[in-house]
Amino acid sequence: MSKVNILALSPQALRLFLEHLGEKPYRAGQILAWLYHKRVGSWEEMTDLPGALRRRLSEVADTGLLSPSRVQVSRDGTEKFLVPLADGQAVETVLLPYDTGYAACISTQAGCRMGCVFCASGRPGFSRSLSAAEIMAQVLLVKKRLGRRGRELKNIVLMGSGEPLDNYEAVVAFLEAVQDRERLGLSLRRLTLSTAGLVPQILSLAELGRPLNLAVSLNAPNNALRDRLMPINRAYPLERLLPACDTYAGKTGRRVTYEYILLHRINDRAEDALQLADLLAGRLAHVNLIPFNAVPASGFKPSPPPVVEEFARLLQQQRVNVTVRRRLGADIDAACGQLRAGGGGQQSSGGKEFGRPV
Ligand code: SF4
Repeated sequence: MSKVNILALSPQALRLFLEHLGEKPYRAGQILAWLYHKRVGSWEEMTDLPGALRRRLSEVADTGLLSPSRVQVSRDGTEKFLVPLADGQAVETVLLPYDTGYAACISTQAGCRMGCVFCASGRPGFSRSLSAAEIMAQVLLVKKRLGRRGRELKNIVLMGSGEPLDNYEAVVAFLEAVQDRERLGLSLRRLTLSTAGLVPQILSLAELGRPLNLAVSLNAPNNALRDRLMPINRAYPLERLLPACDTYAGKTGRRVTYEYILLHRINDRAEDALQLADLLAGRLAHVNLIPFNAVPASGFKPSPPPVVEEFARLLQQQRVNVTVRRRLGADIDAACGQLRAGGGGQQSSGGKEFGRPV
């Protein structure tokens, strides 16, 4: 019989499960505190639980926690983890040290269906979506790693492999667990979800009215170029995507971030900047310019720093809020998916450039 994954249970479901085992429901609070806030990996280490309960739990339940099989550490402090899942799949999780605090970049799928042409990692395809528990386990892995050094996790970015809104139900369940005081207890203001632009799901998320930061991977100022770079644009072109983002901003009061990966001589010309400024004029928007992390065989080149600066200057001149993302982890397998492709996963995963919390 398969074991119950405790990370997959709500506090109420955990109390019922414990009652079913003949235990007092208040034990749920102790277990949740261990799982979400203390640095343990097994039932044995939960020392305020009676020994008999720990033994019983190890027979019938799994903590749901995950451990990396491979770790890469960058000179700038970025840490990248290859995280095996129970069925042999693997995803990448990244710890990012920003001046403003530590962020965890989390994967929501093993692989990706979106097929963006600049994303080396999405190319070999899609394996499966992750459960809410598997998404949370990556956060706990990073949180515990930081905790050992007396550091706090400040932000979470759903920008690892996969399209979060292509795994909508699990991601919404994960958001519930993030803000639940009995579980992670973190404000959704500290979480950013990055999407390639799935319009119906953006509108559903807007209806939830949560203060979650939305980042849209835009990467082109017109449909012709965006169709080429991101096939999802053929289903949800800019004239549908941007109004959906406006609805999101209107319902949540949160400014939408538009991510723009600069690809040299593809989308980094002066006319692209001016067209982008036109597109975003009058919108509650912020542009995050992302230097492209060169991916072998992608055929794309990063824009040289003077081109990046000029692009940013042109946007600012048109009164568009803009930041240039600092590159992290450039000396390790930098773009998401490369660690997994290099060994451990069954297929190469999808992935975005590492995210700066917005
Ligand atoms: S950039 Fe994002 S949405 Fe596009 S293929 Fe890569 S992981 Fe998927």
